[in-house]
Amino acid sequence: MILSFAELLNQNQPSYDYCVVGTGPAGTTLALALSGDSGKRVLLVEGGREDFDDQSQELYTGSSSGREYADLDATRLRQLGGSSNHWSGYCLPLSDHDYDRDELDGIDPWPISSDQIRRYSRQASDILELPVFGRDSDKSILPGSDGLFRVAFGGSSRVNFGEKYKDKIGSSKNIDLVLGANLVELFPAPETGRIVSAELASLDGRLRIRVSAEVFSICLGGIENPRMLLNSNSVIENGLGNERDLVGRYFADHLHLEFGWYVAFDPDRISGLSNGKFIEPVPLLLENGSLLNFGWEAEPAFPHNVADHIVADFKEIACASSIFRDLTRLTGRDIFCRRIKRPTVGRLRLVAECMPDFESRVSLGTQLDRFGKRKVDLHWKIHEADRHTYNHAAVSIAQFFIRNNLGRIKVEPWVLDLSMDWPGRTTHELYGHHHIGTTKMGSSPSNGVVDMSCRVFGHDNLFVCGSSTFPRGGYANPTYTIVELALYLADEIKRLQ
Ligand SMILES: Cc1cc2nc3c(=O)[nH]c(=O)nc-3n(C[C@H](O)[C@H](O)[C@H](O)COP(=O)(O)OP(=O)(O)OC[C@H]3O[C@@H](n4cnc5c(N)ncnc54)[C@H](O)[C@@H]3O)c2cc1C
Repeated sequence: MILSFAELLNQNQPSYDYCVVGTGPAGTTLALALSGDSGKRVLLVEGGREDFDDQSQELYTGSSSGREYADLDATRLRQLGGSSNHWSGYCLPLSDHDYDRDELDGIDPWPISSDQIRRYSRQASDILELPVFGRDSDKSILPGSDGLFRVAFGGSSRVNFGEKYKDKIGSSKNIDLVLGANLVELFPAPETGRIVSAELASLDGRLRIRVSAEVFSICLGGIENPRMLLNSNSVIENGLGNERDLVGRYFADHLHLEFGWYVAFDPDRISGLSNGKFIEPVPLLLENGSLLNFGWEAEPAFPHNVADHIVADFKEIACASSIFRDLTRLTGRDIFCRRIKRPTVGRLRLVAECMPDFESRVSLGTQLDRFGKRKVDLHWKIHEADRHTYNHAAVSIAQFFIRNNLGRIKVEPWVLDLSMDWPGRTTHELYGHHHIGTTKMGSSPSNGVVDMSCRVFGHDNLFVCGSSTFPRGGYANPTYTIVELALYLADEIKRLQ
């Protein structure tokens, strides 16, 4: 059933088994999975309305104090279906290595195994209307594969969670969906830490109500999840789950940058390196170079018969770079003077994992929203491990082209010269609007905000769902994993009840 705020207000002390807040991919998936638990009643709370609405979107404004980032009210959508209303839909699961790797200094691994999440891949793919994806080193797919790179298959989902599931939720006997209801604060019992009620406000802030539930789950996205925990501070001064000052820490996105050009000797051999696939290093290459995970793609920029002068210019620029001299020495091949027949030129794009950095964080800013709660401040920081990864990734991709006689690449100077600034957002994409790591999952309260069941340490009936719980984000777009994790969480909540 779909309720207005006034209808919720008419209920005498509303009380539910499960209260799920947020209707993006995380909240919608979780609420539907919980509603299958027979006889249990779910309150699904959405702050925005069915369509885009300035009054709701304004609540997403805040300040940025670190590395240049998207405006905070442009990097997510506050309405039914959340950011799936404007996402690009590209989906790729994290690799096993993203979950299970533990040798990289300074990074806590996922405390759960890839198998625990993979169990939900088939269901996640059904929800996103995609096949189940895999990874492959098959030489027929990857030209000249030498065992150091493999293909990661992904695909684009067209699912908008609001549009797809509104009617199903509306006709569900077990779910009450209330629109225009904004979670303002969660109240714990001082003695036990259990959440006893949640305060909701209408969009104009004039109507307020407290609801109670056996279990509360917040699915507000990677920036609002920590903000909500920090702003729920009437009973516990530092906020919920924040005894060790970890809430909001380790904010990460994915670095998305065009890092150079390629010239292909045979365009047919390289055509398989684009079109929805990423080429990723095998774990050995990552471990040997102490690299964060990354994926790259080659995007043809010109038709096959590119004008001679473009090739000549390209060769001139390529020859100026010292990296090519080094590569000539390392590979023992003349990489400049090869005759290029029917070349294809294109851009190389690299998407990389970011090092989780304690100083990269979401915290409370000084401005107040219309409910009297502090708005968010985002301080995004790039770690030196991120630059190291970009630099080494570019070199290994250049070597891959040479070893397999695919062509040659030219790398942008800022990738090779670690003292140069990276480009600003006017010329490059920079980030993916993926908000990761701010309430990260850990094996204990000393290294996580939530436990292996996505439950906030110290608060038995409070759960967080979404990419804010990822201890490591790999380089894959996060939503496929968010949906898998929401299905996992539903089972964990039922198991723990
Ligand atoms: C331009 C763009 C392109 C993207 N492309 C991709 C892509 O190709 N692939 C991919 O995997 N990801 C992509 N993403 C990211 C993707 O949209 C997110 O990963 C995904 O939407 C996160 O789902 P979520 O449910 O955790 O959060 P959200 O979708 O952000 O949902 C949060 C929900 O909480 C509600 N809410 C917030 N605060 C409150 C409150 N106080 N009270 C009540 N309700 C509240 C919001 O209205 C919203 O419904 C893209 C994002 C953007 C912006």
